[in-house]
Amino acid sequence: MLSILTQASTRKLLARLLGRRQRVAAKKLYYRLRGQTTLGRAALKRIDAITAERPIYVNLETRSACNARCLFCARRKVPASRATMSIALFEDICRQYRDLGGGLLGFSPVLGDPLVDPQLLSRLRLLVAAGPAIRPHLFTNGIGLKRLPDADVTFMLDHLDRLNISVGGPTRDDYRALFGVDQFEQVCRQIERLVAINRQLARPCRIALHVRTQRLALFRESELLHHWRALGLRCDDVTDAFSDWGGLVSAADLPPGAHLIECENTVYALPCLLPAISLMIMPDGSVRACGCMDATGAIVIGDLKRQTLSEVWNGAARRDLIARYRRGDYPAICTHCAYYRPADWYLQRERYVDFDVTRSFWEAE
Ligand code: SF4
Ligand code: SF4
Repeated sequence: MLSILTQASTRKLLARLLGRRQRVAAKKLYYRLRGQTTLGRAALKRIDAITAERPIYVNLETRSACNARCLFCARRKVPASRATMSIALFEDICRQYRDLGGGLLGFSPVLGDPLVDPQLLSRLRLLVAAGPAIRPHLFTNGIGLKRLPDADVTFMLDHLDRLNISVGGPTRDDYRALFGVDQFEQVCRQIERLVAINRQLARPCRIALHVRTQRLALFRESELLHHWRALGLRCDDVTDAFSDWGGLVSAADLPPGAHLIECENTVYALPCLLPAISLMIMPDGSVRACGCMDATGAIVIGDLKRQTLSEVWNGAARRDLIARYRRGDYPAICTHCAYYRPADWYLQRERYVDFDVTRSFWEAE
């Protein structure tokens, strides 16, 4: 039965035939069955054993500033901040994370772009000098690449576990209408430069493009997308659908063609994957449970000025949050969030059966 349910064609057929309630019930049944399999149980047990002591990865916002004005982003809706994480705090976080066993560390701000941080390369050099236990990755809009000399880009690509770039298009006008700045051609040139530099490396960095567009069909058929794929860039994430950032972004904010994803997550009564496995650390040392959509600090679970990383992870605030999800009492920001993924379901995957933190959690995505 499970093998039939997992077939993509079966899932598509069910999605067409069933209403939302029945789809949720079918999903619950599927994951309940999968959770009973040896594989499902083993995967959950493995991740539980790791997260009982430490996060699987941490994200940092080292500077709260951005050089784009994306219409799908909450940045335009909250008071501007240009806070910067001190090097001392950064080093302390890295030391503590290394002592916990290290793993993935994302330069992946909630509201900002890591390349806007003038100290990004210094931070990377500190990480590299401290040894291989921490593997950095980065999520950027790519606009800031233009100010980095080839030597810095080479260093970055040589030491990042993965580089993710958020891009728009497929035309200059489309990009400007969605990203709020006229940087399309410049970003495209930087992508070509990245590929050229990456090819010179003994161990090229994995580069993934995440396409955000209001003209999905056109982009999917565009020469640009074919060209990027031919260059060896990963381009699986192509979308015209966005989250509402806990109500901060509305459909009226988006250009025609782009839309918000509607969902109701409390029906699952399961923790969201992000708080279940990761932490988001802000420039002032405050720690949020969500490194994705928490633009206002709605789910702050600790403060590294007063607590250690381990104390925050194992602290009452995080424990209470996880318990709230299981009661169906979600934080308001999570109830309709498009990035919600039920942790217990997501983690029932073969690749987590023997997972360890030296591997990339998102490897197969
Ligand atoms: S989505 Fe990212 S790149 Fe766009 S404005 Fe927000 S923080 Fe900046
Ligand atoms: S549901 Fe959304 S806002 Fe809530 S923790 Fe998950 S990703 Fe963040």
